[in-house]
Amino acid sequence: MTKPLSYIEISKSALISNLVNFRRFLPSQSRLAAVIKGNAYGHGQNEVAKAIEKHVDYFQLDGIEELRQLRQVTKKPVLILGYVQPADLEEAVRLNAELGIYDISIAKKLNTLGKKLRKKPKVHIKIDAYLGRQGILPTGILKFAKILRTLKHIEVVSAYSHFANIEDTVDDTHARKQIETFENAVEILRANGFEKIQTHMSATSGALVFEGRELRSQIVRIGIGLYGLWPSEALEKKYSKKLKLTPVMRLVTHVAQVKELPPGHTVGYGLTFTTWRKTRIAVIPLGYSDGLDRRMTNNGNVLIQGKRCPIIGRVAMNMFVVDVTRVPNVRANDEFIIIGKQKNETISAEEIAKNIDTINYEITTRLSPLLPKILKK
Ligand SMILES: *Cc1c(COP(=O)(O)O)cnc(C)c1O
Repeated sequence: MTKPLSYIEISKSALISNLVNFRRFLPSQSRLAAVIKGNAYGHGQNEVAKAIEKHVDYFQLDGIEELRQLRQVTKKPVLILGYVQPADLEEAVRLNAELGIYDISIAKKLNTLGKKLRKKPKVHIKIDAYLGRQGILPTGILKFAKILRTLKHIEVVSAYSHFANIEDTVDDTHARKQIETFENAVEILRANGFEKIQTHMSATSGALVFEGRELRSQIVRIGIGLYGLWPSEALEKKYSKKLKLTPVMRLVTHVAQVKELPPGHTVGYGLTFTTWRKTRIAVIPLGYSDGLDRRMTNNGNVLIQGKRCPIIGRVAMNMFVVDVTRVPNVRANDEFIIIGKQKNETISAEEIAKNIDTINYEITTRLSPLLPKILKK
């Protein structure tokens, strides 16, 4: 099989080993929701879903478009925790999604649909416990519970919440305030018709810091960790001895052209780089249309033959240039690595993120869904 010019290689064994390692790390009652929103953080939603289906309890998505696609490959339980507009609720229920709710009119609409379709849509109550984003504030919980318990055609599975600040800090003061607030709200639900309600609060970082200790959630929502990436450097430092994660993605491409430029020659749009010596350049056929960031202009490296080559000049829509003077015998069609390992050298999503002042999540997630995916054992 000839390989595509550029592609995202995903390692099935890395995905599965990350999941297995989370299972070992977490208490045995935790069910795993694999968070595959955002095109599986750029790794390819359905490719990832098929690869890990047998190893997870739920998939978690953001919205209806993703659900429609996912249903082409799996019937597995799905949590949709982003917003589904009223007009799309019937389809979501027909496609067996479990939905996050925080709005009584949506709950009523789901109840009506449940009656009409003769099935009980499953819902998860989103509590905004000091995240300051989506969800119902604890002050509104009692009233919410009283109305909710009159709706007989929906099944309330859980109450859940989301941490605001455990990635960027090792200070867990805010997180503890969130846990306490969430648990108080859950008590109100338990005392008002929802005795057996389950709870979940943790994404990857919460799983590392709190599960099995302060928290014993029935569901744990693993996103970034599934892809072998850490939610932050601080958490990596603290937990990488207890939990092994293996990066899943390599972004691979092939050189479009190699040639020598004389000294004093500018490179690319905007004349942002001028050669200061005879310079062998390689033209890389990827750019911001593929999801690379334009702030990688004159900023960072790519790998060929396991060696680092600096990006020179602007990153354009479909190509950019690297200096390969120090690497012998580079030829057109040679394999280049933008993200991942080659021989003994690695360019991580974290390295690129640092260069352009963002987080690893954004680096992989913004890669174009059009990049072909190759699943490697
Ligand atoms: C995205 C998201 C997650 C996953 O977060 P990671 O840090 O990638 O593990 C979990 N829960 C909710 C509500 C989310 O929005």
